[in-house]
Amino acid sequence: MENLKFEDMSISKGTKNALKEHNFVEPTEVQEKAIPLAIKGRDLIVQSKTGSGKTLAFLIPIFENLNSGLEAIVLVPTRELAQQVERVARSIGKAHGKRTVVIYGGAPMERQIAGLKGASMVIGTPGRVMDLMRRGYLNLNGIRFFVLDEADRMLDMGFIDDIKWILQKTPKDKQMMLFSATMPPEIISLARRYMKNPEKIILSEDE
Ligand code: ADP
Ligand code: MG
Repeated sequence: MENLKFEDMSISKGTKNALKEHNFVEPTEVQEKAIPLAIKGRDLIVQSKTGSGKTLAFLIPIFENLNSGLEAIVLVPTRELAQQVERVARSIGKAHGKRTVVIYGGAPMERQIAGLKGASMVIGTPGRVMDLMRRGYLNLNGIRFFVLDEADRMLDMGFIDDIKWILQKTPKDKQMMLFSATMPPEIISLARRYMKNPEKIILSEDE
């Protein structure tokens, strides 16, 4: 049987062109399962191992559905991950005329604050995101898409209360997607509390 190609999926020409530039032809398994559901607006819990292609599984559906203003936030545990996700987001975003901004601690705030202007998506670590919110530079009132990436690592690093604090500052009515290599009980209870009838995509255990 022929494998599914991005070209044959119900996604925009802009996204398809951006994927072509990276020579991405076929979606990975997690992308094939998650993208159609996420485009329809479903909340998602996705468990699949490192390297399986989770980044595009949430970025593609978000860029397909963005309108205007700051509408998406992606929380990740580390600066390196934030930079990694933002590189991919910038390239897909460009195809849609959307800007992204990356926010993490241990770096001057000025550039991050300037980058927020006109940005459609924030990718950041919880501490600096909270910091910029408290200082009044970052307002999440318009958020329609909320992603927790590497949720298990964020728990291990003690970010659970920060995540809840940030979540409470976003509109109730939004699409939430949670990605993790493992599903400890704390993640399940976070999902129960904050997600609406999430679809579960469980591909494999990491450990
Ligand atoms: P995960 O978040 O699950 O660990 P990533 O999203 O970081 O995985 O992707 C892992 C690697 O696979 C990256 O180098 C990425 O560029 C590559 N990749 C992602 N999707 C595809 C695809 N559809 N085709 C080819 N390579 C891909
Ligand atoms: Mg990842």
